Amino acid sequence: MTKKQSNLTETTSSVTSDKQKSPPLNRKKPRVGVIVACLGEYDSKALRYAILKLNTAQSFVEYEIVYDVPEDHEFVARTRYGGVVRTSYIKQAIMSFEAEIVQRPSELFKNIPQTPCDRYLALCNCELESGVYLFKPGDKIRTMMVGSWRRYFAPPSLLEFIVDMCIKQGIAEAFGAPRSHMPSRGCIFDYNDILENTRNGVLIGHVCEECATYMAPNNPNWDEIKKLTGGRWLGDPSDPFSAYCELQRLGFKVFKASGVRDSLLRRLIDTVPIQIISKLGDHVALGIAIFFALLLGLKNWGKALGG
Ligand SMILES: [Zn+2]
Repeated sequence: MTKKQSNLTETTSSVTSDKQKSPPLNRKKPRVGVIVACLGEYDSKALRYAILKLNTAQSFVEYEIVYDVPEDHEFVARTRYGGVVRTSYIKQAIMSFEAEIVQRPSELFKNIPQTPCDRYLALCNCELESGVYLFKPGDKIRTMMVGSWRRYFAPPSLLEFIVDMCIKQGIAEAFGAPRSHMPSRGCIFDYNDILENTRNGVLIGHVCEECATYMAPNNPNWDEIKKLTGGRWLGDPSDPFSAYCELQRLGFKVFKASGVRDSLLRRLIDTVPIQIISKLGDHVALGIAIFFALLLGLKNWGKALGG
């Protein structure tokens, strides 16, 4: 009996003859890989869901969460736990980090050659000494530093802000990105020197005439862009399949939270009063009723004695 060789199992060797290889997929959309390994405490299931949900909200770019990351690389250790990091360090460390990120997908997976994304966005829980929060230190990798985020920056929440930056990266990869401009117009390409000032661009989601003119030769899908920006990717709250409802099921209170996850205090404020305060209210009402009943009873008793 001859032993059949299976190539459908997880243990298939990555070293396979050319005959056995499947041709690489002929992709038409650019791909944006989002690296969450450096995000530390701000990483959440809600955030990962929201990033991938963008794939159903438009047709011009595909988003991927990059899980195959060299977690033991020094770049990850230096950027995931908060604190201030020097720009020169990022520029120096990103070279070997990016080389590994780009190299890994070139290995075969189930006999199919993988290809690296066209663009990567590494989300980092640190801040740069210069205050810059988004820049391109590598060839394909942009880094976004969210370590300077504070709760009073909300709205939007940090989750909404990060997703908005992913949207912007996708638009830029698909249609080309105009240079950021200094006048603040509520445009997604407004230049903001600090993270807090990104608020209006995220909430309004406008594309100004200057930026629209720049992108026009690449035929952007304006209908889809409008649906993505200004928080409209969250969808209709009355639709149970919308990102809005799914994020709530994942424990994220849309439009209320100011982090990627709700704080314990916020969760208490949002949930406890519904159950406890109604009971407290019942008790208070009962107490007032007893008080007036006793008062009335005392008065009647006094009248009976006096009268
Ligand atoms: Zn603009």
